[in-house]
Amino acid sequence: MDSRNESSETLRNKCAACFRQFNRMEHLVEHMRISYHSVHEPMCGICKKHCRSFESLREHLIGPLPKQECKNIFSIRGCKFCLNIFDSYSSRMIHQERCQLSNLSTGLIARMSSLGLRDHLMIDNGYAVGNQVVALACKMVGGGSDGSLDLCGRVCLIDENENIIFHTYVKPPIPVTNYRYESTGIRPEYLRDAMPLKMVQSKIQNFLCNGEPMWKIRPRGGKARILVGHGLDHDLDRLQLEYPAVMIRDTAKYPPLMKTSKLSNSLKYLTQAYLGYDIQTGIQDPYEDCVATMRLYMRMRYQRHAVEAYPFASDPQNRNNFASWRQAELERVSPEELLAISRSDYYCWCLDS
Ligand SMILES: [Zn+2]
Ligand SMILES: [Zn+2]
Ligand SMILES: [Zn+2]
Ligand SMILES: [Zn+2]
Repeated sequence: MDSRNESSETLRNKCAACFRQFNRMEHLVEHMRISYHSVHEPMCGICKKHCRSFESLREHLIGPLPKQECKNIFSIRGCKFCLNIFDSYSSRMIHQERCQLSNLSTGLIARMSSLGLRDHLMIDNGYAVGNQVVALACKMVGGGSDGSLDLCGRVCLIDENENIIFHTYVKPPIPVTNYRYESTGIRPEYLRDAMPLKMVQSKIQNFLCNGEPMWKIRPRGGKARILVGHGLDHDLDRLQLEYPAVMIRDTAKYPPLMKTSKLSNSLKYLTQAYLGYDIQTGIQDPYEDCVATMRLYMRMRYQRHAVEAYPFASDPQNRNNFASWRQAELERVSPEELLAISRSDYYCWCLDS
């Protein structure tokens, strides 16, 4: 009798999202106030545990210290790229073949663009309808006395369907002291008569804002475009571009794609782990980075999560994740109910759909 009471007591104090056990209900409530669990967190398809990132879900499923029951099932029915679970081994195999992408076309395009065939394409053509999400990437050459100052030497912009919108060499405003040829493939003659940075900056700026004044840009319902990239702060800084944070989707700063330590993963790693192919080998074309970030974005955006009217902890309706609830009130509700009223502290990209 006693031991049964005890175990039901422990069960009562178990977080319904991450399964952490607490000795006392008040500690679980404290945990819920600061953990921002939500339906948008990556979740194990087997035991339904919520994880803060796909990296921690990967650890849970594959190792080095996996949950054994989940690992066993995952090894038969789990996709190693998107980490979803399927009904059977054969449906997993069919899925995984499609889930793994390749960079075949990237190689082709890279060769074409290095011949200059695709420079300046389309951005001037009133490309205004339809695709509202674009990905941007740069390749940097070196400036300054030791060549360590990053200067944008090449930039690419693509649409949702991986079509090139803009792809050009850029003439930096100060002298280039290191072309970093082994990785950029950029030679002095490519930049000599290239488009000046100022012009590149204003073309991209106008394209992103799409006729909307910067101060008027709102996350929804406007004409301005969503900008996807990896480490965009640095790219935008080097392009001398400003763009509102609400319109930016950065694969280096998106919590589900970050390391458990909350540091960024490299784009090379993310592409290998989540899309299943290699990038940034040898001479690099920014088109390849654009495609990888766009694919990662799409994969995140089409995660199927429950639809909530007020998805953020910061929405007034959620009362700042429990802030206005009295402790005693919260201690009376079940862990599942606590999870049901808990909301995310980051913007999940599924909300773009
Ligand atoms: Zn938890
Ligand atoms: Zn979501
Ligand atoms: Zn699990
Ligand atoms: Zn998959």
